[in-house]
Amino acid sequence: MRPLDGNAMAGVMHDLFGRDMTTMGYKCTSCGRTGVVAEMVVYMSGPGTVARCRDCDAVLLMHAERHGMYCIDAPGMPQTVLPPA
Ligand SMILES: [Zn+2]
Repeated sequence: MRPLDGNAMAGVMHDLFGRDMTTMGYKCTSCGRTGVVAEMVVYMSGPGTVARCRDCDAVLLMHAERHGMYCIDAPGMPQTVLPPA
């Protein structure tokens, strides 16, 4: 399974949050790495999308769609910094 970068989630995240979220900052709870969504390692071939830390492979963000409803969880990034609107 070939991973993508966080830009692969740009369309879905724009639909969910109404703005470009690829420049949203985060801090990984596992290793402390800081970065932006565009730098995440993203796997989209399963039933949902999983975004992992580029340094330690911890799960940062998951989302899935079913019957038009999205579920999103961000267990590895409780600290986020929204980009300017
Ligand atoms: Zn990490």
